[in-house]
Amino acid sequence: MTKIDKNTVARVHYTGTLPDSGEIFDSSKDREPLAFLVGHSKMIPGFERELMGAETGDKVEFTLSAEDAYGPHNPDAVQKVPVEMFGGITPEIGMTLMSDLGPFRVTEIGEEITVDFNHALAGKSLTFNVEVVEVRPADESEIKHGHAHGPGGVQHDEPEETPKPEKKECNDDGCC
Ligand code: ZN
Repeated sequence: MTKIDKNTVARVHYTGTLPDSGEIFDSSKDREPLAFLVGHSKMIPGFERELMGAETGDKVEFTLSAEDAYGPHNPDAVQKVPVEMFGGITPEIGMTLMSDLGPFRVTEIGEEITVDFNHALAGKSLTFNVEVVEVRPADESEIKHGHAHGPGGVQHDEPEETPKPEKKECNDDGCC
């Protein structure tokens, strides 16, 4: 049986919880299993590392430090901005908005509005319960694209470019 390793495609069901509160922050349970190409930095680093060597049917539970998940919380990414910056939007705590610098969350409302550009899970330790649904070797186009294809992965609307016939440089005898 194929084990999870670099250049395999793993399909997994997962539930992520915050170990301190038990709050579920993400789960694939009501969706297709997630498919990802292993070894191409598609997932947070600890997630792949903990699943290395697992095979179909395995259930794995692990807790990652913030460093192995979404990284430490960067205090420089927390800023105060005047309410006028929000234009017609009334900021509310917990709201996530998009800016030229990326998404941010509103974390405090006072004379100025405190916004946090950190990932919502930055600085947090995360627990994952993962069930491996399928492991298969990646095909060439997946490795070339750097992502998994098919259910739970990237599904291209447009047909793949037709493969160019390989340039033949030598004849059957091995002479060029
Ligand atoms: Zn692709």
